Amino acid sequence: MKVPYFDLPAQIRALRPELDAAIARTLDQCSFCLGPDVTAFERDFAAFCGAPHAIGFNSGTSALHVALRLLDIGPGDEIITTPFTFVATSWAISYTGAKPVYVDIDDATCNLDPAQVERAITPRTKAIMPVHLYGQACDLEPLAAIAQRRGLALVEDAAQAHGATYRGRPVGSYGVATGFSFYPGKNLGACGEAGALVVADNALAERARALREHGSRQRYYHDEIGYNYRMEGIQGAVLGVKLRHLAAWTATRRRIARKYAELLRGTPLKLQSELPGSEGVWHLFVVRHPRRDELKAFLEQQGIGVALHYPVPLHLQKCYADLGYKAGDLPVAEAAARECLSLPIYPELTDAQVDYVAQQVRAFFKA
Ligand SMILES: *Cc1c(COP(=O)(O)O)cnc(C)c1O
Repeated sequence: MKVPYFDLPAQIRALRPELDAAIARTLDQCSFCLGPDVTAFERDFAAFCGAPHAIGFNSGTSALHVALRLLDIGPGDEIITTPFTFVATSWAISYTGAKPVYVDIDDATCNLDPAQVERAITPRTKAIMPVHLYGQACDLEPLAAIAQRRGLALVEDAAQAHGATYRGRPVGSYGVATGFSFYPGKNLGACGEAGALVVADNALAERARALREHGSRQRYYHDEIGYNYRMEGIQGAVLGVKLRHLAAWTATRRRIARKYAELLRGTPLKLQSELPGSEGVWHLFVVRHPRRDELKAFLEQQGIGVALHYPVPLHLQKCYADLGYKAGDLPVAEAAARECLSLPIYPELTDAQVDYVAQQVRAFFKA
């Protein structure tokens, strides 16, 4: 049996009539940069997040960058963040000229460990930037408490966590600003690049809208240095269609995650744990084992697509060598990078495929 790691063609095939109609409308209107489809999507996505404002961007990376610009973060500032994430979390920090300060993760959740954050605070610290990795909310309450007590901003990277909840509240409602990505492989994906910034404060929302559009509130008048970070009209139309399916897709991902957990019980694999009271959206289903590389090769031989998220923690990336970290500095993140393996999880995955993947994992440990 073949089990692709991800099956975007199947998703697009199923949505094709709806997408064709939505894109045709955008073509008729010729609203290609922002425009009515983006505005409608922003309204619907804000409602989905239970937040007053969602602002459309041309990527999750640019949304996170503007989140930090809203806080006037720049050279000389430090942002405490996780080393175990996609590199774009740290790009947002580096683009402002500020310095990422990495603290280790919690072994059970692979998310930023609140206990480590407080110790890393210096007079230069301006913000804490956690990630809701793999679609699981990080432990927001202690992070929000530290931020409030120490006068820091909390900026959430929810690029993998559309609709995940923490103590009953959707992610994006704790921090000052939360970035989402709609990269095609995310739980909610555009037909191209796109992202959004979710904020509660009216003035911040207004400034974010100006920053994404060349720093202008009125055409050809530029109050501050801005960017061309606008969401494309066609992506707004596509996302408007797909957002209507997201709740059903998330329900299916949760069902698959539960099935995997049942079928893999009793194997030596370490599985992801959800925080009590939180509901993840299972962007990825990540298992951990010291013999990860052998297991990966074995599953690939059996026709199963797998992936690594992420093989190199950010403090050991070449681009951040000048920060001066060395192997052994953040041992929990380094172990996770060696042991993590992402199994296929997406709404189009069939029960037979899930059974097959679990069966092959068991076969590996029996041999
Ligand atoms: C995908 C992703 C991003 C970046 O989003 P883009 O839309 O690809 O720019 C940022 N952070 C995390 C954790 C991501 O997974």
